[in-house]
Amino acid sequence: MKAVCWHGAGDVRVETVPDPAILYPRDAIIKVTSTAICGSDLHLYDGVIPTMQKGDILGHEFMGEVVEVGAAVKNLRKGDRVVVPFTIACGHCHFCERTLWSLCDNSNPNAWMAEKVYGSTSGSGLFGYSHLFGGYAGGQAEYVRVPFADTGPMKVPESLTDEQVLFLTDIFPTGYMAAENCNIQPGDTVAVWGCGPVGQFAIKSAYMLGADRVIGIDRHPKRLKMAKEQGGAEVLNLDEVEVGEALKEMTGGWGPSHCIDAVGLEAHGSGIEGIYDNVMNALKLETDKPAALRQAIVACRKGGTVSIPGVYGGLLDKMPMGAAFAKGLTFKMGQTHVHRYLQPLLERIVQGELDPTFVITHRLKLDDAPEGYRTFRDQKDDCIKVVLKP
Ligand SMILES: [Zn+2]
Ligand SMILES: [Zn+2]
Repeated sequence: MKAVCWHGAGDVRVETVPDPAILYPRDAIIKVTSTAICGSDLHLYDGVIPTMQKGDILGHEFMGEVVEVGAAVKNLRKGDRVVVPFTIACGHCHFCERTLWSLCDNSNPNAWMAEKVYGSTSGSGLFGYSHLFGGYAGGQAEYVRVPFADTGPMKVPESLTDEQVLFLTDIFPTGYMAAENCNIQPGDTVAVWGCGPVGQFAIKSAYMLGADRVIGIDRHPKRLKMAKEQGGAEVLNLDEVEVGEALKEMTGGWGPSHCIDAVGLEAHGSGIEGIYDNVMNALKLETDKPAALRQAIVACRKGGTVSIPGVYGGLLDKMPMGAAFAKGLTFKMGQTHVHRYLQPLLERIVQGELDPTFVITHRLKLDDAPEGYRTFRDQKDDCIKVVLKP
């Protein structure tokens, strides 16, 4: 089969690789009909996530048709059309039973690597996201093996197109959980750093969950335009205003009630801060560039929540913990518990509350994945979300 394989920073290739096969009774094989490139795939593409190996198959946002199931999978049949959560979960461990699906104790055989990298254990296995997260082959391919298929995949109605349900695999639940984590109360203002796909869904979700105002922050005009026109957000361009001051001004001096960092570890800090992070990263004294997170902490209103759907991979420096402590902030973060949100968010799509296709700017063939990665990374052609068709 054809698959999108990682070969190093800035180097992905479409290659012919062996077809996946059932390895365990709870596996299923899915013929992929649609798959997407995620902002977090760009961290792999940029080579900043450790434990990638040449030839690893990428992709954690995918859906398709069940073509084979293992003997223990009773809920799926050949021909079923399913979306698959990007987090892999066993369904029965201490954490899965508490619906902390992305912290499953049984789906990541390489959690020990995280103990070496972080000095602490890691979360569940993830599709196509390094050996640190299990080394599972991803879904930017013609076929993919889905472990614990009796727990993860959800059947989707024929009345909805692939593009309407594809983002249930990650970015819609991820944006939604980011907003839910803020425990939004009537009258609240939510600021969202990063108006990429997750940020766009966080904006919509914050309104769905009752926010009075949502403010989107980015530097790309096309993303800000989408946040404004599709999401109904007020917007701030990082390159045009001093964000902290602008947020204060917009909120009577208090700052936003809650702040969402949908940027993560590759934030482009500006001025001295940006230079500082680049130097610290080069010296290996810091592994991530947390400019957005610092801003969110400093801007957040007293008693607010800093919610972090953006991915972090290692050590951060110059975190304003004093400000966070003084203001009594709550921090919520982590990979999304996708399984928890599949059904409720599918219902919102069925009822027409939200059409997730609004984020798609590029539709390409699987063969054109290398171009898709380049276009997305360089934000060429106003790229926001790329969908690939195997
Ligand atoms: Zn993703
Ligand atoms: Zn589990």
